[in-house]
Amino acid sequence: MQHDTILGPVAARAEALNDGYRNHAAIAVLRRALSDPAVGRIALVSSFGAESVVLLHMISVLDRSTPVLFIDTQMLFAETLAYQAEVAAQLGLSDVRTIRARPEALAAHDPDRLLHKADTDACCALRKTEPLERALEPFDAWITGRKRFQGQTRSHLDFFENEGDKRLKVNPLAHWRPDDVQDYMINNRLPRHPLVAKGYPSIGCAPCTSRVKDGEDPRAGRWRGQDKEECGIHFVDGKLVRGPVADDRPQEHKEPPMNVIVTDTGFAADDRGEEFQPPEETGAAALDLGSDADVSALIGRLEGVEAIRIAFPAFSDGRGFTMARRLRMMGFTGRLRAAGHVIADQYAMARRAGFDEVEITPELARRQPWEQWQARADWRAHDYQSRLRGAG
Ligand code: SF4
Repeated sequence: MQHDTILGPVAARAEALNDGYRNHAAIAVLRRALSDPAVGRIALVSSFGAESVVLLHMISVLDRSTPVLFIDTQMLFAETLAYQAEVAAQLGLSDVRTIRARPEALAAHDPDRLLHKADTDACCALRKTEPLERALEPFDAWITGRKRFQGQTRSHLDFFENEGDKRLKVNPLAHWRPDDVQDYMINNRLPRHPLVAKGYPSIGCAPCTSRVKDGEDPRAGRWRGQDKEECGIHFVDGKLVRGPVADDRPQEHKEPPMNVIVTDTGFAADDRGEEFQPPEETGAAALDLGSDADVSALIGRLEGVEAIRIAFPAFSDGRGFTMARRLRMMGFTGRLRAAGHVIADQYAMARRAGFDEVEITPELARRQPWEQWQARADWRAHDYQSRLRGAG
């Protein structure tokens, strides 16, 4: 990894920083994070939610030019947008960057803004995770306001975490209790998010945040009624965490050692990957195409090709669907596989574009059980093979 080459392995740096700062206060951890060359280029990621103002204030005291990444999912409460502007101005934050999903990704995957009703994981991935991953690309570390008391998935939180061997995640408030947050806001006379007084102690997107009753967990209003705790932005032990996901697939399909494929009947370990070889090596019973491959170069060269696999480097990258449609229009009747970042919400589209199957990583399969794929729009009357059989 490039980051490792410059700064040293992320895991070793996280461990050393935790050893050195185990008993320090939040502000000392933050000061170190902002100044230590071992941490590298750093940004604060803030939702401008109920407790965000604590870290924003600390940043304003230590270095107000620190980049602040504000993820605007375009589903936020109007009060959050107003509060964001108010806090940034009051604290003199000079580098607040608003992060949004790409318009073309929204148009492709959530044109009617209803994806959150069908699949909150896919919606969070589209509106939060992917835009944030893009925004974090130039950084070696990011600061979050996560705290141990906020739930089981956070109960062992350290100040410094290794995020997938790629970058450091810094949690200066990891050890804070709810009273610490309140005391800090009172002592520093910080402005409150207006929705807190209206019964929202934890604030996310408007469709996915509800009021919390007395005695309920402060985060009970987030994705109420769903088995979901996190928005997908956070990783634990290098793995993306979207809250506990029930895995009720048959035992033989759990933890597959390689990639898994999604077919009409569910997940299966990929025992066919070796068929896919670069054409120059095989003379071409199967082809691997990158997302930027020129499909027209295959005109007249598809004779004898039995299978084609097309790479999807990001789920927001729709070029593979266009390539599949073109291949089918060119008369390719063999097996067509989409491989990489394809989400359940795209399965129907993939089938209609001409794909027969989707190849995803075991991690992606765990986050999106088969039921999520199965529950998509009924593609069967419209997919390529049905049309080929004259059924569509
Ligand atoms: S919190 Fe809800 S509306 Fe916001 S991105 Fe996630 S699913 Fe979509």
